[in-house]
Order: sequence, then structure tokens, then C-alpha cells
Amino acid sequence: MTETITERALLAAIIANPDDDQPRLAYADWLEENGQTERAEFIRVQIELANATSGRSHRVWSNEKTLDQAVRAASIFTEHGERWFGKFATITPPNAREANGQWWIVERGFISEIRCTEEQWVGGECERCEGRGQVQFHDGQPITPRSGNPFVVQCPACHGTGHIVGIGQRIAQTHPVERVVTEKRPWKLMSDDWIWWLDDGSTDDIPSSVRRELHGHIKTPRIDQFGYWKSFESEQAALDAYSRAAIEWARRPQTVTATFHYAGELQPMPMDDIENETDT
Ligand SMILES: [Zn+2]
Repeated sequence: MTETITERALLAAIIANPDDDQPRLAYADWLEENGQTERAEFIRVQIELANATSGRSHRVWSNEKTLDQAVRAASIFTEHGERWFGKFATITPPNAREANGQWWIVERGFISEIRCTEEQWVGGECERCEGRGQVQFHDGQPITPRSGNPFVVQCPACHGTGHIVGIGQRIAQTHPVERVVTEKRPWKLMSDDWIWWLDDGSTDDIPSSVRRELHGHIKTPRIDQFGYWKSFESEQAALDAYSRAAIEWARRPQTVTATFHYAGELQPMPMDDIENETDT
């Protein structure tokens, strides 16, 4: 499905007003007018369901209409959810056992929360070929040696680029994502503060240019000789700032990193440069 200008404007309104039902309902009307009746119905049912059960979830199953809506939403989702939202999408909050995997929560008709690794969000080095763009085996089978380049073929996972494009931009630019949870955790200081620290990148899985951009969105200032860091009163406050930064980064136009820069080359850069980079 090609996004039209109308659709893009409707999605932009939803993203700009994530708490407001009206832009979502307007999009549902547009979908219906364009023959996507089930997607439209799914948005409306999930919104009605959210409004009916908000703050009193214990009454969900005692109300016949709400029960019908829940069943209908689940039925539509089972049939179309993976195609519309991707295979990690879910309409039920994952339990503790599943919480370590990747999941995308769909609420009020759209993806609202993502749990994935930072590398999956922003993209990074291709694991299959370790960034080389070439592999010696294809589908587990050795390639017949030929003259010139025996055993070496273009990596099928990344099409020879050495780089995997992340899910963040595609999702954050078309869904009102409000929270991104990754494996990244802030450092805890002796002073009980929690900090995000722009380190030398030697253990980084993501391109150093993206690391600098993310920290630009966190607005990490240079504090001292240890470099760029920003402290928060609690771990949750630090994680909230990271989540906002990850979403802001993904919504920047044209942030696809065409080439992968190996970890370890991250150099401290003046804060002015970070500001300029993020404001463009
Ligand atoms: Zn590859």
C-alpha cells in the first residue's frame, strides 16, 4: 500500500496528538472510504474498548457489549494483525515470562509501545556477516570454489551492505509510539544519581554517528574530563529520557544511516555540533 499525502497528514495528526481519539477516528473514516473496512473497524473497536475499560478493567468481562468488542478486536487482530503491524505485535500486555523478548503493543488501533534491542530500533551491523557484507557460505552450504573469490558471496541478510536498517524509523513515523524499552540501562553513581554517559563506544552495537545523535536528543552536556553525561534523579527518569530520545531520533527526517561505522571510532565532539546535528 502506497502512502498518499492524505494518509500521511492523517498519520501525522495522530502522532502529534497521541491522547486524542479524534485523529484516529478520522483516519478510520478515511480507511473505510478507501476500502479498508476491517482496519477501520479495528481502530474504532479498540478505541471504544479502551474508553469503556479505562481505570476499571475488572468490569470488562461483566459487560456484554465490552466482551463482544474484546472478542471482535481479538478476532480481527488474529486475522490481520501480523500483516498490519508486524510479527511482534500484540494486543495483550506480555506477561513476565515473555517480557525479555521483542514485542510491539497495539492500543487504540496503533502501535504504542515497543520492546526491542537498541540495535533493532536504530539498525546496526549485520550479525550474519559481522558488517563485512560478504559471507563464505550461503544458507549453510559452502559455495563451490571458483577462480578469483572462492567461498565468498554477498551476504544475503544485508544484501552486501554490512548494515541492517532498524525498525524505529518505519514504526515511529507511522505510529503514535510513546514508549521504547531497550536493554540499555543508565549508570548508577555513588551519589544515587543515574546517568547517561556518552562513552568511547568501544562496546557499542550501533553506529557511532547514531549514538551521538541519540545523546544529542537526551541533551547530554559535557560535564567534566570524563566526557558527555547527564544525570537523573531516578533510573526511571533516565529511561524516560532515553525513550523520548529514541522516538525523536526515529522521527527525524532522513536519518537512515547509509554506511555503517565500526564501533570504537566514536570521538568526543563539541556540544554545538551535537545541537546542530539534531536541529537540522
Ligand atoms: Zn550481512
